[in-house]
Amino acid sequence: MQIDGARGEGGGQILRTSLTLSVLTGQPVSFVNVRAGRARPGLQRQHLMAVTAAAAICDADVEGARVGATAFTFTPGALRGGEHVFDIGSAGSTSLVLQTVLLPLALSGATARLTLVGGTHNPMAPPFEFIESAFLPLLARLGLHVKARLLRAGFYPAGGGRVEVEIEPHGPASALNLTEPGPSVRRRARALVANVPEHVGRREVDTLADRLGWPHGSGEVQVLGGPGQGNALTAFLENTHGTEVFTALGEKGVRAEEVAARLADQIAAFERTGAAVGEHLADQLLLPLALRAGGVFTTTEPSLHFTTQVETLTLFPSLGSRVSRRDLGDGRWHVEVAAPPAQ
Ligand code: AMP
Repeated sequence: MQIDGARGEGGGQILRTSLTLSVLTGQPVSFVNVRAGRARPGLQRQHLMAVTAAAAICDADVEGARVGATAFTFTPGALRGGEHVFDIGSAGSTSLVLQTVLLPLALSGATARLTLVGGTHNPMAPPFEFIESAFLPLLARLGLHVKARLLRAGFYPAGGGRVEVEIEPHGPASALNLTEPGPSVRRRARALVANVPEHVGRREVDTLADRLGWPHGSGEVQVLGGPGQGNALTAFLENTHGTEVFTALGEKGVRAEEVAARLADQIAAFERTGAAVGEHLADQLLLPLALRAGGVFTTTEPSLHFTTQVETLTLFPSLGSRVSRRDLGDGRWHVEVAAPPAQ
């Protein structure tokens, strides 16, 4: 099977998802036009690590994969658990490497223990808190038991972040229903500051609370050591039916108040829709639902990552995946993912 990396969103997602599905189905894949839609196309270190990680969990044969390559082949072998260390060697996202191998391992019935080294708070990738508090609890409701621990944060460009993940054999699954967020349980925020003054984090959590009308004291600041410099402001929206996590990264030349204001606007816009699942969680939920037990959720307008993910699923017809969506108006959409045909 040939996978054209220029399709849809044209980034790393089509590559990672195809690797995941290749490992799961045993279907060999030949990749062309890898990340053709990006300014620096081809495999960067993070993507190469995703290929290496996918190969390591199933003894795959890989030909032509190196930094900068726009074509390579991947022939999967038999899946197995075990212990692995995946060191990206740059500030590339540990979350995205993890997501490449997580479902095959969690569905394999084996136990696995992973150590990932690289970036933990990257722009345009799921930050660690999102994986821990939004993504993994939903996997648990699908019977997939995964624990992740942040041992050290890693920011661009220094990297060096460290995440430990334990994957247990799966339990029974039932379809997920996330059509409503459910009543609010708690709103809280956390600012991480690594070699950035503590007042930056304090101003961020206070501005966020002011703008969103959250109680004072809903924000905490964590001062981190380590070699790199970085700042991440994370908001946790805990509702009875699940937790959504939104993050903004501090940038040089952007005031703390501005970082918080941008995040507050994003959160307010999301909450106005009444949807249960945000843009990013929506594209990342498709695979676990399609592979496990199916489900329904409401979300905001589907992104290009979402539609690309749906298309990539259909490239593997043996999975029999079916995803449908309906516009409910006022920025809210209903998504239904059918349970896999074998169940
Ligand atoms: P790609 O750009 O193709 O490498 O894919 C990026 C992935 O990261 C997609 O699944 C996005 O939904 C996800 N992502 C980007 N930003 C965030 C964020 N702030 N929180 C959670 N997930 C994110």
